[in-house]
Amino acid sequence: METTRSEALFARAQAVSPGGVNSPVRAFRAVGGTPRFMRSGCGAWLSDADGNEYVDLVGSWGPMLLGHAHPEVLAAVGEAAARGTSFGTPSEPEVALAEEIVARTPVERVRLVSSGTEATMSAIRLARGATGRDTIVKFAGCYHGHVDPLLAEAGSGVVTLGIPGTPGVPGHVAADTVVLPYNDRDAVTAAFAELGERIACVITEAAPGNMGLVPPEPGFNAFLAATCRRHGALFISDEVMTGFRASRSGQWGLDGAVEGWAPDLMTFGKVMGGGFPAAAFGGRADLMDLLAPSGPVYQAGTLAGNPVATTAGLATLRLATPQVYDHLLDVSGRLQEAVGEALAVAGVPHVIQSTGSMFSVFWGIEEGAGVRDFTQAQAQEAWRYGPFFHAMLDAGVYLPPSAFEAWFVSAAHDDEALSRITSALPAAASAAAAATPH
Ligand code: PLP
Repeated sequence: METTRSEALFARAQAVSPGGVNSPVRAFRAVGGTPRFMRSGCGAWLSDADGNEYVDLVGSWGPMLLGHAHPEVLAAVGEAAARGTSFGTPSEPEVALAEEIVARTPVERVRLVSSGTEATMSAIRLARGATGRDTIVKFAGCYHGHVDPLLAEAGSGVVTLGIPGTPGVPGHVAADTVVLPYNDRDAVTAAFAELGERIACVITEAAPGNMGLVPPEPGFNAFLAATCRRHGALFISDEVMTGFRASRSGQWGLDGAVEGWAPDLMTFGKVMGGGFPAAAFGGRADLMDLLAPSGPVYQAGTLAGNPVATTAGLATLRLATPQVYDHLLDVSGRLQEAVGEALAVAGVPHVIQSTGSMFSVFWGIEEGAGVRDFTQAQAQEAWRYGPFFHAMLDAGVYLPPSAFEAWFVSAAHDDEALSRITSALPAAASAAAAATPH
């Protein structure tokens, strides 16, 4: 068989990059086969190096809320780039982006950084600096970027590739991380009873999307915030994935804003960069003002607040109107229904879980059971996903290459895109039904 361009590019990539990729999950290890090298994107569609077209349900792992190459975002980026791509000085777009974030969320001050990993790493340093304590509490299955103390029992690529430990993370660093089961209030209460005076912070994904989508049980985030407050610890809500995606104000817009509480610190990324490397952490003014140059906790970045990246993020957020969020919910709801129906017809037990328009499918789990933590997420029949994924890919639908990831729709997903997906579903569901554990 003739070598495809993606195969040829992957061979070149493997000769010069570890595993042929610059981020592990892109390598297709969990689903097999050769990663598609994408060449362009437009709206809901991606085109690969061989000219194949796909409806995209990955959205660059979350950022592309408006779809690819949105003309107004491109125009804003072009104008910003023409003025110069980086100054290493303050500039107006970064102020405007910070103002937009403050307007949509409970944070009072924002520090811009270049990746979600930097955001969570810096938020933890700030929490430790503010409390004078070292211990961090996180939840199994949550992924907060490749930050040393946060890789323990992490989701995303760590679970996809079945990486058991964290080689390269010194034992004394890992020893300061306490990992608890998600949605388990008793475990949180017990950890605080034992270690309360040593805990600097609890960090959680606001609605975990990196072990598949496992929403917080009602009141769980409020419980975490209140428990932290009672013990002098800080509550860090990681909204890198859910921020400006789960709702206009992220997951906090669905729980904290309704229930009347706010995290001490929050982290953002993905959507707020509009497809460029931009992320942020923010929170209460008294805490954020502990950062240099106002305070003693050091944090910095050569490209932080980059004028092109912040212009892209600002244009994206300004275009993300209430109508856009309504559309995302509508498309996501129709898609979940179609996936559920196809799997039911093929006889594949499954559970679909969502928050806002983000959702994922858990395979081989009896309906009504629900998945509330990492242990239950890992108990799914993830081996059904590879054949499903490849049947969808062959039919022109690009899904995340792992069962442990959320699916993302965009403002550009229309009836044509949905119809490509729904016609691909029956064969893919049959492939999942016929799959056997390997
Ligand atoms: N936090 C969450 C919840 C994420 O989903 C991710 C990335 O997927 C990160 C942090 C890390 O962000 P980045 O990949 O930009 O470093």
